[in-house]
Amino acid sequence: ADRLHIIGGGMAGSEAAWQAAQAGVPVTLHEMRPKVATFAHRTGSLAEMVCSNSFRSDDSEQNAVGLLHWEMRAAGGIIMETADAHRLPAGGALAVDRDPFAEAVTARLLAHPLISIEYEEITALPDSGNWIIATGPLTGSGLAQAIAAEAGQDSLAFFDAIAPIVHFDTIDMDTAWMQSRYDKGETEEERTAYINCPMNREQYEAFIDALLAAEKTGFKPGETAGYFDGCLPIEVMAERGRETLRFGPMKPVGLTNPHNPTEKAYAVVQLRRDNALGTLYNIVGFQTKMKYGAQKSVFAMIPGLQDASFARLGGIHRNTFINSPTLLDDQMRLKSKPHIRFAGQITGVEGYVESAAMGLLAGRMAVAEMTGTTLPPVPQTTAMGALIHHITGGAEAKTFQPMNVNFGLFPPVIAKGGRKGRQVRYKMYTDRAKADWQDWLGLREAAE
Ligand code: FAD
Repeated sequence: ADRLHIIGGGMAGSEAAWQAAQAGVPVTLHEMRPKVATFAHRTGSLAEMVCSNSFRSDDSEQNAVGLLHWEMRAAGGIIMETADAHRLPAGGALAVDRDPFAEAVTARLLAHPLISIEYEEITALPDSGNWIIATGPLTGSGLAQAIAAEAGQDSLAFFDAIAPIVHFDTIDMDTAWMQSRYDKGETEEERTAYINCPMNREQYEAFIDALLAAEKTGFKPGETAGYFDGCLPIEVMAERGRETLRFGPMKPVGLTNPHNPTEKAYAVVQLRRDNALGTLYNIVGFQTKMKYGAQKSVFAMIPGLQDASFARLGGIHRNTFINSPTLLDDQMRLKSKPHIRFAGQITGVEGYVESAAMGLLAGRMAVAEMTGTTLPPVPQTTAMGALIHHITGGAEAKTFQPMNVNFGLFPPVIAKGGRKGRQVRYKMYTDRAKADWQDWLGLREAAE
């Protein structure tokens, strides 16, 4: 029978292997550890959790990652099942006893009659066959070079430089306004691409003081800083001079504040639309190594963002990922070599759970293709669908940065301008998602 090859036995590769083997397709999993180490992994186990031991919130009614847990459990899979079996008490979070968890995933995959594991590093793109690349944020350098050669240097990143992302409906538009600099842009879409937050001189000086004083994180050993070209952290810019930001990302030129047309802003913080839905905006040029707590208090000083809630905070990390919106089709296949799928963090999702989720979908998509069918599109109203839609088309390709699952990726549950309390809205998102996900799983069974 046809065999599925998977490179990388992390969160995504382990789940993809399990999904395919459970569906009757033989799998070879290629894993470079323990022969080749990374700076973050400590063991030779598959599905090692490299940092925190948490799958984050397990609340499937009020939290998007909790919803993703729910959907993965409904679909059945090795990562959630084994995490549940090695759960540690942690309130509303799903904390995992990491070593027994990874050892159990490894043992179950090794014991599966349809799975074989080759402990080897793959350094070239395969020419033929059925493949999934799930090599994660620390992809081996040989394979990373081969991917860059195929996709183009600009389509593979080695660091993420994440600017904070804000939920649009928490921006105070009585203070901020929409306008692109020098009114560039012809279409409604282009004109609503930017939101501006004005600062007067006192506000700017206080903001710089706060940036300089904020607590920051350093790089881990081995995580060499190669980021200094073009994506300096804002606090480093501020250290270079108090005016640097005002002549950089916070320059106030080409903009007129309709709330206060006679007074020229001293500095302007710009946000740029981050997804096609217009529910998320990123703060332009605001990549940072400030600690999360510090980011929240410093960004709350920006007029218009005083009550902002963040889909994700900023960061700079070692992270290998491809520009999925341009490179992948909606079946997660590399457009230029469709016998290769990508899954996991290398596709531009972020986190253990999101990576495993994309492994689950890639495994099922590969099986469908190998058995002569195609899965129907995953509804964007589900957490699974919101994620895959974001990476394969919904995200802005030019500013593509890794993303956690969050409700900003879902089509809104209520019309723009409509008001409902947060709890009510979140429950509406998760109810809709659960119904649509169950339908999709049923549809799939009916199609088989
Ligand atoms: P991985 O789990 O990394 O699996 C990829 C596998 O591929 C690895 O086993 C690797 O050895 C193997 N591999 C790589 N290249 C090759 C090759 N050429 N040939 C063969 N095998 C290869 N996420 C969280 O949710 N919480 C956190 O606290 C967190 N902290 C992190 C801290 C650090 C320092 C890093 C780097 C990442 C962190 N992440 C965290 C992200 C998390 O690691 C990923 O989301 C998740 O592990 C990605 O799953 P994956 O399967 O895509 O990649």
